[in-house]
Amino acid sequence: MDHPLAGTHYPRAVGEFQAWFRTDADCLDYLEWLRWPAGFICPACGHAGGWRLGDGRFQCSGCGARTSVTAGTIFDRTRTPLTVWFNACWLFATGKDGMSALSLKRTFDIGSYQTVWAMLHRLRSVLVRPGRDRLRGTVEVDETYIGGHEEGLAGGRARGKKVLTGIAVEILEPKGFGRCRMRPLGDATAASLHRFVADFVEPGATVITDGWKSYGGLDQLGYIHCPRSQRAARSRGEDPGELQVSVDSAHLASYLNEFVFRFNRRRSRSRGMVFFRILELAVAHEPVRYKELVAVQPSRAVPPTPPQASGHPASLDRPPANRPWRHSG
Ligand SMILES: [Zn+2]
Repeated sequence: MDHPLAGTHYPRAVGEFQAWFRTDADCLDYLEWLRWPAGFICPACGHAGGWRLGDGRFQCSGCGARTSVTAGTIFDRTRTPLTVWFNACWLFATGKDGMSALSLKRTFDIGSYQTVWAMLHRLRSVLVRPGRDRLRGTVEVDETYIGGHEEGLAGGRARGKKVLTGIAVEILEPKGFGRCRMRPLGDATAASLHRFVADFVEPGATVITDGWKSYGGLDQLGYIHCPRSQRAARSRGEDPGELQVSVDSAHLASYLNEFVFRFNRRRSRSRGMVFFRILELAVAHEPVRYKELVAVQPSRAVPPTPPQASGHPASLDRPPANRPWRHSG
C-alpha cells in the first residue's frame, strides 16, 4: 500500500493501537487485510477467490487448497499468540533504539527467553526488502569495524574479531543525510568494496570515499568517484562511520538491517506507520525457522534450546472487563 492513512490503516498512537488490537482475533483480521487487501488470493495457484472455512482458514475456489492467513508468512506455525506478536512489534517499531529480548521478556512476563529472542530475530529478518532502490545523488562510502566485545583493537584496517562493515549514506545539500545501507564486508579488497558499491549505489551517482587504494577503479563501474582525505570527512561533523554497536558478529547483518531500517525512517512522523510497514513486510516474508536463526549463532553464545511447548506465552487478549472493582460487593 503506497499511502496508508493514519487512524484508518495504521494506529496513530499507543491508545489507538490498544483499542484496535484487543484480541488475537483482531490481530489475525489485520494480518488478513494486510496480506489480501482486495480479498483472498490462493498462494498455491494464484487464483483470486475462495471461501472461509469454519476453522478460519480459506479454501481456494480454483484448486481447492486450504490455507491459513499466517501460513507461508513470518507467523507461520507460531505458537506465540498474535497479541504478543503485535505488542512486541509495536515496541520494536516505536522504541527509539529498538528493543532487547530481555526487556521484552520482562515487559510481557514471557517465560522463555528463546521465544522472545526468536520473535525479535524474525521481526529483524523482514526489514530488508529485496530489490529495493539503490542510493542516488551523492553517496559517501566508508568502512568501519562493528561488533565484537574486544577492547583496544588497533585502528586502521587491521583484522580482528570485529567485523568490517561497509556503510553507504546519501549526502544531502546543504546538510544532512538521506538513506543509508550497510553490510558486513569480507575484507577491504577492491573486489569487496566494488561489489558493495555496485549493489547499493545507482550507477551515475557521485561516490565519495577516503583515499584507500581499493576504491580506485570506481570510475570504470560508471560512478563519479571523489576520493578525499579522512580528515576532510571528519571535519564535516556528523560522521556516520563512528557508529558503535555491541552485538555478536554472527547476527551482525541482521542488527545492521534493523539499524538501517530505523535510520531510513528516522524522520517518519508516525511510529504507527513504521509498525504498519514491519507487519506489511512480515506477511510477505517467507517463514524463518528457529533452526535457521540458531544456525548463524556462534558456538558458546546465548540461546541453544528451541522453545518448549510449555514455554509459550499466554495471549494478551483483552475482552471488555466492565470495571470489576465496581462489582466486588
Ligand atoms: Zn488455488
